[in-house]
Amino acid sequence: MAFQIKDLPFGKDALKGISEKTTEIHHDKLYAGYVNKRNEIAEALESADRSKANQAYSPFRALKLEETFAADGAILHEIYFDSLGGDGSLPDGAFKQKIVEDFGSWEKFVEDATATAMAARGWAVTAYDPSDGKIRNFLCDMHNQGGVWGSVPLWTIDCYEHAYFIDYGADRGAYIKAVFENVNWAAVAKRYDAASA
Ligand code: FE
Repeated sequence: MAFQIKDLPFGKDALKGISEKTTEIHHDKLYAGYVNKRNEIAEALESADRSKANQAYSPFRALKLEETFAADGAILHEIYFDSLGGDGSLPDGAFKQKIVEDFGSWEKFVEDATATAMAARGWAVTAYDPSDGKIRNFLCDMHNQGGVWGSVPLWTIDCYEHAYFIDYGADRGAYIKAVFENVNWAAVAKRYDAASA
């Protein structure tokens, strides 16, 4: 079955500090583009010539490489959009407790996530790492770089300029603050509950 473009869980004009124009381009053009490319690559792989596979260059290698780029581009955006549309308030519960346990306090988590997003060239990914059962903020410079095998992404901050340049110019810090004000933490907590179950 082909990969589907997921609808936004909020109106395009519903975010505070992130404009309708940014959200429209981001979701309808850029995110949708990754889903479409993922389908295109999957189809091309069906008939790709595996007998000429070569690590320096081969059409098969190019497809296998871009398969991960398109897939991770789609998945990271789906988590990003699914985690927005809230008011940024953090509900009590297992997720909040776990963050305080792993980071020392909610404020320290915010500090670490913000720093990761300021330092990343692509994504900051808050993930549950089953290798020791802790939540960590991972830094990704590209969709298909920086992921830690086995860890489950719970929340992402898109750090590419397309996510904020229209609204904030080069002021990424102001954009990250706006993201925090729009997080639907209940959606993130739900992913944590499923990952840790
Ligand atoms: Fe993006």
